Amino acid sequence: MRGGARTAGRSFINTDSSKISTPVVYARPEHSVSRADISRAALKVLYTLRNAGYEAYLVGGGVRDLLLGRKPKDFDVATDATPEQIRACFRSCRLIGRRFVLAHVRVGREIVEVATFRAAGGNAGEDRHQQRVTVNGRVVRDNVYGSLEEDAWRRDFSVNSLYYNIADFSVVDYTGGMPDLKESRLRLIGDPKLRFREDPVRMLRAIRFAAKLGFRIDPAIRDAIPACREWLLEVPPSRLYEEVVKIFLGGAACRSFSLLRRHGMFELLFPDIDACLASESEAEAEAASAFIERALSSTDARVAQEKPVTPAYLFAALLWPALRREADLLRGHGEGEAQAIESAGARVVARELARVSIPRRCSIVTREIWDMQPSLSTRRGRGALGLAGRLRFRAAYDFLVLRAQAGEPVQEQCDWWTRLLESEGEERDALVAPPARSPRRRRRRRRRGQRDPAEHETPA
Ligand code: ATP
Ligand code: MG
Repeated sequence: MRGGARTAGRSFINTDSSKISTPVVYARPEHSVSRADISRAALKVLYTLRNAGYEAYLVGGGVRDLLLGRKPKDFDVATDATPEQIRACFRSCRLIGRRFVLAHVRVGREIVEVATFRAAGGNAGEDRHQQRVTVNGRVVRDNVYGSLEEDAWRRDFSVNSLYYNIADFSVVDYTGGMPDLKESRLRLIGDPKLRFREDPVRMLRAIRFAAKLGFRIDPAIRDAIPACREWLLEVPPSRLYEEVVKIFLGGAACRSFSLLRRHGMFELLFPDIDACLASESEAEAEAASAFIERALSSTDARVAQEKPVTPAYLFAALLWPALRREADLLRGHGEGEAQAIESAGARVVARELARVSIPRRCSIVTREIWDMQPSLSTRRGRGALGLAGRLRFRAAYDFLVLRAQAGEPVQEQCDWWTRLLESEGEERDALVAPPARSPRRRRRRRRRGQRDPAEHETPA
């Protein structure tokens, strides 16, 4: 079988034909991708494209995860139809992206991402009609369409470049993805240095997939990273935010954290936190790493249990050691606890934005979680019920629990809130009742303007 033979209705801009090769085709009995495991929406998209006369393949994480017996996060489709032709096939379809134009097809509540085959990367500079634009080798726009073969070679990792063909249910492998998958090896297609130059985010994707799949990072990738990692600083911070969220909320945050540190990338994404982790004070360094590891393992546990996780809480946890350091400095200059946390939070977020642009809707919640910490540590009595009714209380309480688990001296406060949350009726009233004062010590309420008799007369 040779894919990409049908070219009717589409013009190729072929920039690199040297890599065209014969694929290994695994017929249906030779692989484990079953239509029963593909979502109804993805099947509908594949069949609609095919019935309209186009090639249609499932590709990327969907095929990779099904072959590994894992549940795919989503399904990506590749086709020889152009974005406009895709749009014409579906009632509900939106073209998105500029750097990389994609079609989002909505079927019921599901969205399937459909991409037109693209030509393999190259140092094209400014391509015809500006369809591929590169800046210092970094591809900032890539809409040069190509054949299936070319599409296979321009993908990032061999295991992400396997195509499930809806026409005959075979899996098509141009890049040796199937043997890599069997040997749990994450291998970049082509020369790692060139591929990282085109798109430095591929270094983060390498960490993410290695952590999530438990794959070995190919030595060629490992060896290229030290010379390439600083290119991450050229990536728009908004794109880094998206990737960071995928890394840390994808269920393998702990492993990703340790891989990012080992490969010298964590410090580029979170310089303030890295400064705490590498602090000269052993106690500070240990506290920071204990806190982050505890936070990430509880995030992984929640993802495994399919409980909700939010970027706001993630950033509250990741940045907390940096906030604590900053707040300590401010307290040293005489600021009170609540004020120090508020100002330190603002500074830490502002500095982080230069690297990873946390959207405001997220950082507002992050800061609310932090700002509630001093009240949670001190608030008792009836005011506690008001606090417990606040929108961010649950997240702020979970955060207090996390601090206690990581060894911060807030266990007692934590237990008190836990008891309050588990109590009701009289028990709850008793918990929030103001402590009874002995009558002898009770002071007489002063009337306005009346001087406290205990107050000394200041001599004129
Ligand atoms: P998952 O969806 O499980 O996170 P995925 O492999 O499907 O993993 P996506 O980001 O959904 O990842 O991308 C879909 C596919 O598009 C990838 O499998 C890969 O083939 C290709 N791809 C995505 N990003 C890049 C990139 N930066 N460079 C080259 N190919 C890419
Ligand atoms: Mg995907």
